[in-house]
Amino acid sequence: MLKVCDVTKSFCGARKILDGVSIDIPESHIFGLAGPSGSGKSTLLRCIQGLETPDSGTIVCNRKVSFMFQDFQLFSHMTVLKNVIYAPTLKASPEEKERCVAKAHEILRNLGIEDKILEYPGTLSGGQKQRVALARSLMIDPNVLLCDEPTSGLDVATITDVVSLLRKVNDQFGVTIVIASHDLYFLTQISDRIVLLRDGVIATEINPKQHDDPIEHLKKYYG
Ligand code: ADP
Ligand code: MG
Repeated sequence: MLKVCDVTKSFCGARKILDGVSIDIPESHIFGLAGPSGSGKSTLLRCIQGLETPDSGTIVCNRKVSFMFQDFQLFSHMTVLKNVIYAPTLKASPEEKERCVAKAHEILRNLGIEDKILEYPGTLSGGQKQRVALARSLMIDPNVLLCDEPTSGLDVATITDVVSLLRKVNDQFGVTIVIASHDLYFLTQISDRIVLLRDGVIATEINPKQHDDPIEHLKKYYG
């Protein structure tokens, strides 16, 4: 279960970045967080992840959460494999490390990028880096995957790839996915449900599949 109840958050200033946000995210859903830049999307993801503490309200999440950062944040001096196994093997025994390597191979194979395993991020395309970042976040077998702007800087063809990749992760592993993005086309393609934040408040909430023109509807709430 992932439930956000009446969450309010501000940083030093008086302005509330999140102002009474409540969201119920059903299991195995792909949930979109839309909204103009500065509307509080990343802050909400960071609150769900536990990187920020809300001033008031509660977040109930009894599931294993993984975070896919904006701009991938891969280590450029490490190979693809090393990037994927780095965190889970920091304190691992040799046997655990071996299991991690096998698991990384399997995940990378599943995401169609096993052939790049010994390459460095600098040699990869945007879409390939995205796959590596995704593989890295799947290493902990998350129930919930939080993605912040997963399509930023990617071209249209690669964005289509990201849609099918995230769908696959959702379908095959039953992972609940929460995606913050300013890209309405992408969000309406992939989401079962979309919440639009504006100035820290939920301005509208829709099921894009049951809407004639979801993008047009959402656009009305951008200032
Ligand atoms: P979005 O992801 O929708 O673009 P953010 O959640 O990143 O929006 O930011 C919302 C607002 O909160 C912005 O005005 C931003 O400057 C402010 N903000 C975010 N994080 C911090 C922080 N750590 N300290 C101060 N202000 C912040
Ligand atoms: Mg953001």
